[in-house]
Amino acid sequence: MASVKSSTRILLVEDEQRVSESLQELLELYGYAVHAVCSGHEATAWLKYEPCDVVLLDLNLPGMKGEQLLDFIVSGELDTAVIVVSGEASNDSGLDALRRGADDYLRKPYAPDQLIRAIENAARKQQHAKENAALESRLIESEKLHRYIVESSPDLIYMLDRDGRFTFVNSRIESLLGFRKNELLGVHYSTIVHEADQEFSRGIFNERRTGERAAHNIELRLKCRNGAVRGHQHFLPVEVNAMGMYGPGDAPAEARFNGTYGIARDISDRKRAEEIINFQASHDLLTRLPNRFLFKDRLTQAVAQARRNPQTMAVMFLDLDRFKMVNDTLGHLIGDQLLQSVSKRIVHCLREGDTLARAGGDEYMLLLPQAGRRTEASEVAKKILNELHQPFIVGDHELFVTVSIGIALYPEHGENPDMLIRRSDIAMYEAKSRGKDSFEFYRDDMSTVISDYVSLEAGMRRALTGNQFVIHYQPQVNVATGKVTGVEALVRWRHPTRGVLAPGEFIPIAEESGLIVALGEWVLRQACQDIAMWRKSLPNLRVAVNFSMLQFEQAGLVEMIVSILEEYGVPGEALEIEITENMIMKDVENTVRKLRELSSHGIRIAIDDFGTGYASLSYLRRLPIDTLKLDHSFVRDIHTGSSGASIASAIASMSQSLDLNLIAEGVETELQMNYLRSIGCNEMQGFVLSPPLPADAAGRFVMREPESLAGMRAG
Ligand code: C2E
Ligand code: CA
Ligand code: CA
Repeated sequence: MASVKSSTRILLVEDEQRVSESLQELLELYGYAVHAVCSGHEATAWLKYEPCDVVLLDLNLPGMKGEQLLDFIVSGELDTAVIVVSGEASNDSGLDALRRGADDYLRKPYAPDQLIRAIENAARKQQHAKENAALESRLIESEKLHRYIVESSPDLIYMLDRDGRFTFVNSRIESLLGFRKNELLGVHYSTIVHEADQEFSRGIFNERRTGERAAHNIELRLKCRNGAVRGHQHFLPVEVNAMGMYGPGDAPAEARFNGTYGIARDISDRKRAEEIINFQASHDLLTRLPNRFLFKDRLTQAVAQARRNPQTMAVMFLDLDRFKMVNDTLGHLIGDQLLQSVSKRIVHCLREGDTLARAGGDEYMLLLPQAGRRTEASEVAKKILNELHQPFIVGDHELFVTVSIGIALYPEHGENPDMLIRRSDIAMYEAKSRGKDSFEFYRDDMSTVISDYVSLEAGMRRALTGNQFVIHYQPQVNVATGKVTGVEALVRWRHPTRGVLAPGEFIPIAEESGLIVALGEWVLRQACQDIAMWRKSLPNLRVAVNFSMLQFEQAGLVEMIVSILEEYGVPGEALEIEITENMIMKDVENTVRKLRELSSHGIRIAIDDFGTGYASLSYLRRLPIDTLKLDHSFVRDIHTGSSGASIASAIASMSQSLDLNLIAEGVETELQMNYLRSIGCNEMQGFVLSPPLPADAAGRFVMREPESLAGMRAG
């Protein structure tokens, strides 16, 4: 008890000086800290400022009575124990003191060890009381803390009873859905679930499972009270996790089931991002016209219909003349505004049922299902040429734009969508070469490009055996760390007479002729050989290899890849395969199966040109995907307030929420780099870091110290 003793402070209230002195001596001998006073007034003055554990109080005081002092201590809830000492004669006064709240009493005369025992007891009791009070206040605090965590959670937290009625909701319900907490207690959950989701969400709100198997990230819509809350519509998209609640005991689970507990997270930001991404998958954001994918879709449908119900139609390819000059001399912003105005005027010349699409840059494609005869098509073309003759006012500039139009008719010039598009394109070139500002119908003697195809295809077969293909590698850099994380393999053709050809000039032909299968295998083999060498110094380096649809359709694709990896001793995680969204959508089942197999070998999967394709995001979420490559068109469009920037940030936040790696492609400027960093996209590929390099130069680049990339980290 030494520790209790030495820290125990005693106030001695005794008017007889002789008694007081001897008591003080005795108590100090036992190691207590003692302060002595001789009146009630002195005692109250002391107690006001000095903490004290035990008051030893003689009831028999002059002036202020001992009982009064006792009342003062008890009623003021002073943190101290009181031992009362009563006179010899009075038996009752001690009992009375206990009733008034004293902790103990001693009757004079008492033996010293009686006194010491009484003080020890009182001090111990006092200490326990203090510890209890501290514990209690901690409990109150932690209860407050839990309540605070639940109430201030950004998520909706609720509990339902066995019948699906709310027994608890946190305050978040008020800002999210506009209901007050109390108004929902006892109310059935279906009151706040969107009608269309009632049926399928029944299981979530009656969830009985717990742990891993319980309902996990289920998306559904909740109803808002009286429609609009927070500016959004009448419902709120959420993601719900729920589990069953069970009471303790040995009774069967069914008897212990108390209801369901769940958390609903507001995912409206993510949904909005998805909407933007989905819209731009089929539209051009600048002009809000359909893009080339949607155009191809509509054309395919129209052709299918025209085959069933014989009918003619026209496909036009439009290319603005000298638009590049406007862009180069007046800048992108003026160029963009001009494109918007031009689009409006062309639309003005069309009828319902016609489709105008922006095919990219200053190119448009037009489908006219009701203008299948030459005369009708010429009428429309003339009308467009005419309409554009009026000058455009953009900012302070008066601009003149003309257009060259190529026309292909179905079925006369082509019976399938690709043929119609290609031939309208050829006719457009003819119009351009004949002086622009005009239109041409396709003629067979225009087909120079087609014959090019044939000779390139034959040349490619020889090239494969004759070592004319080479791979250039473009570094992928994490600009936050300055480290090179990977390289993308990009094939080139050193053509014997035409110089070095870019893949855009021969990959489409390789795909059409089937040569891509052999070429792709060659690329993979070469890439594995090079990465195996580099990984000796950089064991985490990856190589990304592009794959075409036709390659993916080959039986034995997975076996081929795995055996090449083994041949060069390259582990699966060193290889990243790049495919496009459209490849997945073309044959979902087959692609998904192969992706899962590849992923089971550790091979990584990247979605190339992400944001330009057609894939539904809900699909992507179910695939074993590691990386999204933000398409360079969004990167290129990054300037203040541009649509490219908003898509880039939508995709960045989406990839963060899906926990995917994001690489931005085609980064050319510091401004783009800084913007991308600001939205959390640190991995980049592009000319500002490095162009694609021949293998030996790429090897030197990746071996460089991260510090040598430090300049890129500025800003
Ligand atoms: P991709 O996969 O989107 O490759 C990126 C393209 O962007 C490359 O063009 C690259 O040189 C270019 N690029 C890189 N940084 C920048 C930049 O900062 N600015 C600009 N404007 N462009 C940049 P490349 O090498 O001409 O390749 C074109 C396409 O050919 C590739 O597009 C890919 O789809 C395809 N391809 C290349 N190699 C192969 C291959 O081995 N197999 C298959 N199936 N396709 C390949
Ligand atoms: Ca690629
Ligand atoms: Ca790409």
